[in-house]
Amino acid sequence: MMATQPCFSLHEFYGGTIRERLGIAQGLYPDLARELVAKEAFGCQLAQALISQKELTRVMADLDLGGLCGVCGAKPGGGCCSSFMAGENDVVQLLLNLLAGVAVRVFREDAECCFLGELGCPLLFKPMFCLNYNCQQIIRGAGPVRMRHLEQSVGRLLQQQYGLEQLLLEFLRQRGTLRG
Ligand code: SF4
Ligand code: SF4
Repeated sequence: MMATQPCFSLHEFYGGTIRERLGIAQGLYPDLARELVAKEAFGCQLAQALISQKELTRVMADLDLGGLCGVCGAKPGGGCCSSFMAGENDVVQLLLNLLAGVAVRVFREDAECCFLGELGCPLLFKPMFCLNYNCQQIIRGAGPVRMRHLEQSVGRLLQQQYGLEQLLLEFLRQRGTLRG
């Protein structure tokens, strides 16, 4: 007898605990990775999004955000990657990270975001909330011109991520994996 494929609701994709969402994404990933290889439109969009992600990484490195956030996060009570922010991650965006080759896993069990590792955030496709957040220290340090550059780069990546999410949602609905 063939196993019945699981079908999820939008609430399961965007609600539930972060562990439940990660569990759904990890469960769907192996089959989807095989099936999506054959989907040219998805592959092209993923490649475009990864180019935008690399560009943003360069812009962030120019601003030394990794260094700044590393020092800030190491202070008691410092950093802003909280468990509350972790809740902004949904199944589709976690799946996109897995499909892009990120070994998404729960890294910690404290008040910080469960994905925050020793080297910072491992996600290539982060929630909009995370991408758009800049504290005053960063805003002051960067100055208006470099902040505009950063915002434009974030905007481009968010646009690409949105396109990818729409393609994946459509594929999952057609496949019978998502209802609603
Ligand atoms: S964005 Fe600001 S508050 Fe958050 S970790 Fe970086 S320096 Fe700290
Ligand atoms: S940037 Fe990454 S580690 Fe930080 S809160 Fe967002 S998902 Fe978590």
